[in-house]
Amino acid sequence: MDIAVIGTGYVGLVTGTCFAEIGHNVYCVDIDESKINNLNQGIIPIYEPGLEELVRKNYRDGRLKFTTDFEEAIQHSLFVFIAVGTPPGEDGSADLSHVLSVAKQVGAIINGYKVIVNKSTVPVGTAKKVKERIVSELEQRGVEGIEFDVVSNPEFLKEGAAIDDFMKPDRIVIGTDNVRTGELMKELYAPFIRNGHPVIVMDVSSAEITKYAANCMLATRISFMNEIARVCDSAGADIEKVRLGIGSDSRIGMSFLYPGIGYGGSCFPKDVQAMIRTADKLNVETNILNAVELVNKKQKKLLAQWIVEKYGDDLSNYTFAIWGLAFKPKTDDMREAPSVELIQALIERGAKIKAHDPVAIEVAKKTFGPHESISYFENHYDALLGADALLLITEWNNYRSPDYIKMKKLLNNAVIFDGRNQYDPHSMVNNGFEYYCIGRSNHNEQ
Ligand code: NAD
Repeated sequence: MDIAVIGTGYVGLVTGTCFAEIGHNVYCVDIDESKINNLNQGIIPIYEPGLEELVRKNYRDGRLKFTTDFEEAIQHSLFVFIAVGTPPGEDGSADLSHVLSVAKQVGAIINGYKVIVNKSTVPVGTAKKVKERIVSELEQRGVEGIEFDVVSNPEFLKEGAAIDDFMKPDRIVIGTDNVRTGELMKELYAPFIRNGHPVIVMDVSSAEITKYAANCMLATRISFMNEIARVCDSAGADIEKVRLGIGSDSRIGMSFLYPGIGYGGSCFPKDVQAMIRTADKLNVETNILNAVELVNKKQKKLLAQWIVEKYGDDLSNYTFAIWGLAFKPKTDDMREAPSVELIQALIERGAKIKAHDPVAIEVAKKTFGPHESISYFENHYDALLGADALLLITEWNNYRSPDYIKMKKLLNNAVIFDGRNQYDPHSMVNNGFEYYCIGRSNHNEQ
């Protein structure tokens, strides 16, 4: 079968590649010519474990094509996936301009029955808007009798495990009011759910809301734990013990109970905001989500606040080593990463930064631009040399059991601000470190 995937970012590239992997012919389309040229030369725009090999293999086998030619891709395909970005607009609501511009192009091109699949995360009511945009283009063309359906098929993949998530999803959600289209979508996804996981067919509005509800729930768990962590800090308790205590309750479970320095990435912050705006437009109060967002904003400032409390507002005599720039491990994505706000807060106060990340250094260079206060290191120990403290921001595996003796030799002062609770506070203090972490009380005076 021929499939067009419009938008070749994290979601589009993974979607297209995985469909090609199971035997379909896929056109990955993007308006970004340099991205398409690079992909045609085997240069993958993002770091995602396992993606590069799969892209190369399917490209070599001729099942995966990268193109800027919408017409060829759409006319040949039965399924047209829309996987373009939906960044936050000025008021926080999802900016649908990319989605609707693709809809316009689809309307200007389609030549026969198509299933248009909204894979981008879009607010309730968007499938209807996409449909209207396509109809209006068809009317302008004066074309009659071309049928199409617009389906909502939200994507739940996690960056860092995207291939696995797509190939073996927990569930597939399909929003359609048309039984025939639901069957076509089920057939398309059948090879991915041989593990018995469900394909849940529902109405379009419920599917659109499901995606936001899922991300809002996960963000809520994170903010909840960060709030309880603050209580633990003040009460002399340990959030990590509380986490084990509540997570072992089967009604709660262990996932997404990790306290830290706030959620980031391209999804949670924008999706929580977009859900708040959607509810607002529907005259529904979102007291929980407002709090989730507020707690997260505060949490992202926590490390900078501790640093200012310890060293003062003028940081021009201090150098900080940063371990981890990506918003989470196994990705180079730095959109809304806690590291960005933290580094900006420190360099604004005159600090120097020595940063390491296993894969995100190139993205960081683009994010911060050339900056005399920030230097990057290929080896995480090299970033420590001459630094006044280490700030651990992303919990990459290779930071988990470091050589503490070596660290103490390299650092000017044995001080660690651990934004991810990677180390045991008591052994850190016993090893001679001044150790700050999230919600585990101040053990430094013991
Ligand atoms: P992205 O920014 O990585 O990629 C979007 C791509 O779309 C870019 O390559 C851009 O050039 C292209 N594009 C923009 N306008 C276009 C147009 N008119 N025609 C063709 N291409 C166009 O975005 P992403 O992270 O892949 O996210 C895409 C959507 O999927 C968003 O709605 C996002 O919320 C959702 N989503 C993302 C993730 C994730 O982990 N990144 C997970 C689930 C859902």
